Amino acid sequence: MKPRKALETIVPYTPGKLKEGAVKLASNENPLGPSPKALERLKSVLPGLSLYPDAAFVRLRQAVAGRLGVAPENLIFGNGSDELLCLAAGTYIEEGDDAVTSQSTFSEYTFATVLFGGHMTYAPLKDGRFDLPALAALTGPRTRIVFLCNPNNPTGTVFSGDELSRFLEKVSRDVLVVLDEAYYEYVGWDEFPRSVELLGAHPNVLILRTFSKIYGLAGLRVGYGIAREEVIRNLSRAKTPFNVNLAAQEAALAALEDDEFVERSVAMNAEGKRYLYREFDRLGLRYYPTEANFVCVHLNRDGTEVFERIMDMGVTIRPLRSFGMADWIRVTVGTPEQNRLFISCLQRVLKG
Ligand SMILES: *Cc1c(COP(=O)(O)O)cnc(C)c1O
Repeated sequence: MKPRKALETIVPYTPGKLKEGAVKLASNENPLGPSPKALERLKSVLPGLSLYPDAAFVRLRQAVAGRLGVAPENLIFGNGSDELLCLAAGTYIEEGDDAVTSQSTFSEYTFATVLFGGHMTYAPLKDGRFDLPALAALTGPRTRIVFLCNPNNPTGTVFSGDELSRFLEKVSRDVLVVLDEAYYEYVGWDEFPRSVELLGAHPNVLILRTFSKIYGLAGLRVGYGIAREEVIRNLSRAKTPFNVNLAAQEAALAALEDDEFVERSVAMNAEGKRYLYREFDRLGLRYYPTEANFVCVHLNRDGTEVFERIMDMGVTIRPLRSFGMADWIRVTVGTPEQNRLFISCLQRVLKG
């Protein structure tokens, strides 16, 4: 049997490395674990697991819509936002079409594009940030999707609402603009785009958010998309009916109500960021100021080598060679204790 040609060029995803017993600061998960309210709710769903999940997402849809101030019809749910990236590509990209994104960003944009026979074009980052004018200039008649990551993974950098508005004015309305806001809840910057408000004027925007990061539910796989009704209807045609399992829907509902947990996570992250900045300054290391729950640090040497030595000491982080940033690493902001452990390992490696 012969697989499709497009698959030949797909590079498998490099997941954050696991090592038994190691402190994992490799995949930007919440170091506080899942929302306690979600955990409590999960216990009560077990006897109901013989039933199919709600294919219409009635309760979760209501709850998220209420929080965002949008209509239930403006939402679509996915098995993680990863699935929604594939749905977007599967809905809008024909064999031979183009998509545009930045270098050094989340690899799943390229995966989804190539999976459906599309071709990805990249603009370089500018000072570690998405260069929106350069991205707009790369779009052409065959461009179907532009993928924007804000804050960007792995740099943690952001673009503003004004920058985004100027970009949207330049790009054709026939191009879907995917705004991946996986770290939205961590952002503290006043000028960050109020993306949901843009949907009124821009029918070609799809916002993606997730329960994987601040809500601590990465293992359950729930993400959602916010867009105009027509976009949601078209994406839904490419979706399997029971794509988010029953336990995940219930846990997401409970987590959404857990404001205390979200606040605690944001506060711990802010404190962890301050600590890491101070330590990186002390060690003379350059880093990008981050609006997310990870920091991207320049090491003046090969990041993979440092990653391996730190892993031997019991902490996993992310080397960024596969992102085209060989001398950089990305570290998730952990608990105060995890952050101290990471810094002491890093210091030993850099001095050794
Ligand atoms: C973690 C992450 C996601 C979330 O993926 P899920 O499939 O929802 O777990 C999406 N985009 C970016 C940039 C991420 O870093």
